[in-house]
Amino acid sequence: MLMEDVLLIRYSEIHLKGLNRPFFERKLIEGIKRALNNHKVYVIREQGRIYVKGLRQCETDEAIDKLKRVFGIHSVSRAKVFKKDWDTICAGVTGMVERLLNERDCATFKVAARRSDKQFPLNSDQINRKLGELLLSRFSKLKVDVHDPDFIIGVEVRDEVYVYTGETGCSGGMPTGTAGRVVLLISGGIDSPAAGFMLAKRGAELSAVHFYSFPYTSERAKDKVIELTRLLSLYAGTIKLHLVPFTEIQTAVYEKCPSKETTVLMRRQMMKIAEMIAHEDGAKALVTGESLGQVASQTLESLAATDDAVKIPVFRPLIGFDKDDIMDLARKIGTYETSILPYEDCCTVFVPRHPVTRPSVDSVRASESAADFEDLNVHALAEREILNIG
Ligand code: ATP
Ligand code: MG
Repeated sequence: MLMEDVLLIRYSEIHLKGLNRPFFERKLIEGIKRALNNHKVYVIREQGRIYVKGLRQCETDEAIDKLKRVFGIHSVSRAKVFKKDWDTICAGVTGMVERLLNERDCATFKVAARRSDKQFPLNSDQINRKLGELLLSRFSKLKVDVHDPDFIIGVEVRDEVYVYTGETGCSGGMPTGTAGRVVLLISGGIDSPAAGFMLAKRGAELSAVHFYSFPYTSERAKDKVIELTRLLSLYAGTIKLHLVPFTEIQTAVYEKCPSKETTVLMRRQMMKIAEMIAHEDGAKALVTGESLGQVASQTLESLAATDDAVKIPVFRPLIGFDKDDIMDLARKIGTYETSILPYEDCCTVFVPRHPVTRPSVDSVRASESAADFEDLNVHALAEREILNIG
């Protein structure tokens, strides 16, 4: 009896894509291969499913764990593959249910068959009924419950027959590399990594930029951002991280501009430098971790005054999130524990005592003429360090 183990992968939204579907599927397969590059596997696409073959039994748990982080996957099942022969299928299914009942205490089940191969003599309903009857006669304590069963036996009749008894939910989203590139402004805080995750989940590739202020911020703060970027890259693939020295710019803002506008003026320079990086890296938008009203620099007026500094779109995927929601997301994606390590952010070092909460665009533009920020920004960019992470 052929009893190969495979992973059966279900897509999330790709089925909605019309003519572009092959492109999305190709990107998904690339993502799967990237995640499993330590394993010797074959990744095969067939009729709206992807199969991973060649895994050894002892590798499957680890592989499923990695696939949970691949965007574009709805769920994964560990399946057994049988020849399209009814007796083989019956024996195989009985064996699988027997093993399951040895591991778990279950009282109810249902069979959910799908027949893609219309040549197969039994249709889905008939397969459900016949296998149901077989299992009822073989395992006396089992009953059928079609609404809320303890376990479902999935049977898919294709080129061969795939049978599974469980399904692991994955990240969903769109495959990495299907949405173009964005530049994430990443601090060492909780919010910006979560914001980057949201865009990556929708298929965007990430460049990231971090501004640091030696000697006011330490090497440790920089390492923390590198680690956060690495954690994000587990989902988003390789991330190009730009580490930009910001001390000269901050000093100029601090010494030459009205102190109440310090934060918004610093933020504008960050945006301008990030926009230059976007042009270099072929990115089409910027991403920040701001959420409406969280702090003085996150009022509608402040956000508008910040956006005024650049031409490309600025996305703030957390704009409507409460801090608690953001913390939950950060925990879920695994960045929270690193984000809460103590660190100094360049913004907190130069925080004004009385920041404006409703800056006017005209006023901040005028304040900016006190120093040659264009030159300072270009200079800072020239001094940056670039790391490819992940
Ligand atoms: P975070 O948790 O990401 O630090 P926050 O809510 O604390 O966000 P701020 O510190 O005010 O907010 O920063 C707002 C956004 O500006 C951040 O989410 C991030 O996108 C960007 N930002 C702030 N500081 C830096 C920095 N040093 N380098 C790069 N981006 C930064
Ligand atoms: Mg912060």
